[in-house]
Amino acid sequence: MKTSKSSYKRLLIVSYRLPFTIQQTDNGPELKQNSGGLVSAVLSMAEQMGQNQGDQSTKIHWVGHGDASMQQENAPALENETFVAHPVFMDEAVHKGFYEGFSNDLIWPLFHYFPSYASFRETDFDSYQQANTRFLEELNALIEPGDLIWIHDFQLMLLPEMVRQAVPDATIGYFFHIPFPNYEIVKLLPRTWRQALIKGLLGADVAGFHTNDYVQHFLQSVSEVLALPIIEQRIVLPDRSVVVKDFPISVDFNKFNTSGQDTTVANTRQHYQNLLRQNKIIFSVDRLDYTKGITYRLLGYERFLDQNPDWHDKVTFVITVVPSRDTIPQYQEIKREIEETVGRINGLFGTIGWRPIVYSYNSLSFPELMALYTACDIALITPLRDGMNLVCKEFVASRYDNKGVLILSELAGAAQELPEALIINPTDKQEVADAIKQGLLMPAAEQEARLIKMRNHLQNHNVFRWSSDFLTAFDNLKTTQSTLETDLPIQPFINAFSDAQKRLLLFDFDGTLAPLINDPAQAKPSEEIRKSLHTLAENSDLVVISGRNRAFLEKTFAGSPVHLVAEHGAFLKKPDQPWERLDLSADDWVDTVRSTMEEFVSRFPGSFIEEKETAIAWHYRMAEADDIEAQANDLAGQLRRADSSIPLTVIQGSKVVEVKPALHSKGTVALSIFEQTPYDFIVSIGDDTTDEDMFRQLPNWAYTVKVGPGTSFARYHLARQRDVETLLQRMSDVLVEA
Ligand code: UDP
Repeated sequence: MKTSKSSYKRLLIVSYRLPFTIQQTDNGPELKQNSGGLVSAVLSMAEQMGQNQGDQSTKIHWVGHGDASMQQENAPALENETFVAHPVFMDEAVHKGFYEGFSNDLIWPLFHYFPSYASFRETDFDSYQQANTRFLEELNALIEPGDLIWIHDFQLMLLPEMVRQAVPDATIGYFFHIPFPNYEIVKLLPRTWRQALIKGLLGADVAGFHTNDYVQHFLQSVSEVLALPIIEQRIVLPDRSVVVKDFPISVDFNKFNTSGQDTTVANTRQHYQNLLRQNKIIFSVDRLDYTKGITYRLLGYERFLDQNPDWHDKVTFVITVVPSRDTIPQYQEIKREIEETVGRINGLFGTIGWRPIVYSYNSLSFPELMALYTACDIALITPLRDGMNLVCKEFVASRYDNKGVLILSELAGAAQELPEALIINPTDKQEVADAIKQGLLMPAAEQEARLIKMRNHLQNHNVFRWSSDFLTAFDNLKTTQSTLETDLPIQPFINAFSDAQKRLLLFDFDGTLAPLINDPAQAKPSEEIRKSLHTLAENSDLVVISGRNRAFLEKTFAGSPVHLVAEHGAFLKKPDQPWERLDLSADDWVDTVRSTMEEFVSRFPGSFIEEKETAIAWHYRMAEADDIEAQANDLAGQLRRADSSIPLTVIQGSKVVEVKPALHSKGTVALSIFEQTPYDFIVSIGDDTTDEDMFRQLPNWAYTVKVGPGTSFARYHLARQRDVETLLQRMSDVLVEA
């Protein structure tokens, strides 16, 4: 176990943006923190860590990109009673490539499923690496033992691994604030970039995302890109593991819940309602961004007006767009499109006394925002894609009166938490129009019932819960050197094993009892495994069930009372008895297969053919071609399509393509063994595709265990071969103790 949460000494936050401004006061320049959600969450986290505010040694340090106001002359003001700001300065061209280029022009559109907006520029990736290195330099100078480092968002994906390299035993958290897309999207990134980004995140001890979907997508990318074992949302690395979990970010519920009754807010609300002549109000607010689906939203409203003339003059859509990135042509273009659409709809339906849409392009003060949240009848929040979306949560938290209707896009992360909203697809104009009508007609009791559920949820899952849950996740870290990495319920398993009368243990050899190595002839079980196997075999039917030939197995297990199955079920040898041949297929198919394989041997030096008695295999672990896996797929495909006298199976194992008669398999032999004796305990462990046949054939109650990464029929997993050793040791220990 790592240090517990209360023992972290200091909190070091790293994010692209510093949440501070330098304000000129009578006492000179002073550091003021913003009132945003992240700052409040961080403050409450520091409190939970037991830090005394104002104590010099426990101030919160925040590393972020520095703007001009933070240059040298204002350096004395970079600290207040709670925070110390550490601005990171960098070359302007590097900043441009890193921030505007790689971050905003590639990762942002790509990860929001707008691949056609993404620009792939090598120079931007260079800048991104350089900028992350600049952040590392600033941070590295600060880190002390006992610090908790919390890195934020997509601008700093490389930083966790950089910190890990620099300070191997640092405690590092990472939170990703935007959607993590499925692998088909990640695959659009050049191979070296996606490897670097994913490895970058794995430098963290805890990697957080908004929703479980994003967690699953991330794990999928980790499997595809790095083929690492994943046990119960923990990615297992050789010397530690990374906890991957969803932490839905939220809002300061109480602040929004109570501010609606402030005098300024109440007056502003009254003022707006008067201006809009007590019309029903639909409200939305977003930053200018193509992900927000603003034009589609307007078109949905247009459809509603078109189909419901009786609502004309009785409803007003107040839509505020907050300026953002509008020096970029793409953003200017969507702004133009929005304004054109607003103008067209107002022109089409408006009258002298009624404007259907009141549009503004500016930001709102907090009282103005609160006044609109609490004045509106419908909040229309319809992003095409949004990591979370806080506007909808703020609206719900603001409605202390339990009135109003939330219409929410199913493509916002928040939709997974707020199913009582009217959930729509933002591109479906008819669905949006219908939801608007349903919202306007919704009885007060239904509005209240829906809001109460959503408000209860947000009250329990506010932004303080978010940071607190994140902090708590560090309590579950393990150093995996000493522990067994598995999702097998160990104690029940050991109890069942020790209580059983008749036990069957089926163990694969390569990758299970012995580690995978370059020269298969040299593979052997460790001394510890040998000892455990010996004890286990004396008390159970222990079968080593392998693809290896008879001679190899007999030599490797000489003197051990184990059963041996060779060549994937073609031969069986019980202890102290001769080999039985289970497979009686003809072998006239071998010559054609051999000649196809020989072509591959001559094309890929280092690869070789192994001829067994009933099978033939092409091994390519030592071949060096870059695309060797694709070549192996090609060979397997050719062999599957080839004609043969008997049905054959082509097996793609770990760096091997093997052909054998289809009639026998590890599955058939496992089944025949287990049918001969009334076993009351079965465990089967393997790492390879051929072991899947065995997992499939065994009864549901058997413990089937897959070793290593990848999907499997097995019920349980062991992360690495060395975990097999630990497990067998625990099993043999209970027999010795008994
Ligand atoms: N907001 C703001 N200025 C405004 C109006 C709103 O800063 O003029 C805030 C709003 O209160 C919310 C945030 O901007 O907290 C928007 O967060 P969200 O997650 O909905 O979208 P993002 O802009 O982060 O994509």
